[in-house]
Amino acid sequence: MSEGVLFPAPRDPVQPFWDPPAQTMDPEQRRGLQDERLRDLVAATFERPVPFFARKLSVAHIEGARDMRGVDDLAAIPATVKQELRDSEQAHPPVGDYRYAGLADSVRMGTSTGTTGVPTIRLWTRHDLWVEYESAARHWWRNGWRPGMSITHAHPGYLYGGGLLLQGAYEYFGFLAIWVPPPETDEAAEQGIRTWMRMRPDIPFGHYSVGRFCEVATKLGLDPFADVGLEQSHYPGPGAEAPLTSGGSECYAFVASPCHQSPGGHVNEDWAVIEAIDQATGRPVPDGEWGSLTLTTLDRDNPLLRYDLEESVKLLRDPCPCGETTVRALWGGRVAHLVHSQGHAFQVADVERALLTVPEVAAPSLEFVVVRPGDEDAPVVVRVERGESAGDGDGIRDRCTAAIRDGIGVQTTVELVERGSLPRSGYKSVRLVEA
Ligand SMILES: [Zn+2]
Repeated sequence: MSEGVLFPAPRDPVQPFWDPPAQTMDPEQRRGLQDERLRDLVAATFERPVPFFARKLSVAHIEGARDMRGVDDLAAIPATVKQELRDSEQAHPPVGDYRYAGLADSVRMGTSTGTTGVPTIRLWTRHDLWVEYESAARHWWRNGWRPGMSITHAHPGYLYGGGLLLQGAYEYFGFLAIWVPPPETDEAAEQGIRTWMRMRPDIPFGHYSVGRFCEVATKLGLDPFADVGLEQSHYPGPGAEAPLTSGGSECYAFVASPCHQSPGGHVNEDWAVIEAIDQATGRPVPDGEWGSLTLTTLDRDNPLLRYDLEESVKLLRDPCPCGETTVRALWGGRVAHLVHSQGHAFQVADVERALLTVPEVAAPSLEFVVVRPGDEDAPVVVRVERGESAGDGDGIRDRCTAAIRDGIGVQTTVELVERGSLPRSGYKSVRLVEA
């Protein structure tokens, strides 16, 4: 339990893991722990009660903890998607009938960004924050980062809970955490840039919006890397080798992270059962195949049972040389963001990787959108902003087209547009637009 551990005990900086007993536990023993925590979850569902999940359990003929053996019984329980949480909040305002802990037990709320409908409400109890902070600490330690370092971020705050969650996780670990505003305007970006030039964080900025900071630094006559100390994003877009790192702040923000010794992110399995499911059947796909990322969070005040994030994931169970005994997961991006064209399926991150090889559009920052194709056989329209340097438009267009064809095998029509003509974002940019 988490009582009295707001400040974690110091660790030996050379020890290989933040939490060795949890991270190197014998897999059979961990499976037993998952079974036990699942039975606790089922018991709580009927005792509270939690009508939303009681209905789901009834479908699987589970009417109490005695009917639940553990992980083996999960696949029979219908998965839940975000729209169902949204519907539950509408039918039972303000927080729905799927919560195990209510407003009086919670210390923090946030909302989703609402880009795909009415925002859902997120609630955290002290204990659930502690689970996220401990999970994040394993994450930072796997990166080789240690307490006493300084780090920086530019996550959005206020109702969007992600910024405060990240800030809190950094502080819990023992970082000096420098939180600058998201670069929604040039003025906001400059505030961050000036702060970094003054404070020189040990772990430089390399989040999603780094391109925006590079762009504004260049406008200010600064070299984004040498003068400001920015780094290329260390948050790779979805792809064949991208590790799973997050299960969303509504479910499990710090569910996994890579050890950098083998592919994928190590999943904190003592606090979650991860499944890659076939959405048509609700059953897990074989290890090594892409399925929909489905998490059951354990030992939470507010767990989610078989929550399908509608993102692609692939599970790897072969042992890892780092010594951590947990399953690893690769991340393939949001299922809804997969683009199908000319017999290929790709993510906009694949287009991004290809375009970054064309210097005329990559500096000072790559700005582009992919228009979702209406016709499977037609070339995909990609709008790309010119870089700072002028140049032969036809030549640049040809190099972009060739880079994408070589990278993902699809024909595109590249439209070169003026610098500054595509919308800017202070956080994750919208790269896939409707025609
Ligand atoms: Zn490993």
